Amino acid sequence: MAYTITDACISCGACEAECPVSAISAGDDKYVIDADACLDCGACAGVCPVEAPQAE
Ligand code: SF4
Ligand code: SF4
Repeated sequence: MAYTITDACISCGACEAECPVSAISAGDDKYVIDADACLDCGACAGVCPVEAPQAE
């Protein structure tokens, strides 16, 4: 299980600082989550203004 960031992402960067395991980084056109590192905690979804991080 891991969260993924959808195309709704506006690259605001808010989620990156909230991730306890630094699994989020800036990608080419949106932020991305390293599925192997993600703990499924949901912190990123909690701070995202556009609900881009979604649980799979
Ligand atoms: Fe990081 Fe938690 Fe979001 Fe996974 S669900 S990317 S561990 S903040
Ligand atoms: Fe993208 Fe949401 Fe993260 Fe901002 S908080 S970078 S909009 S996923």
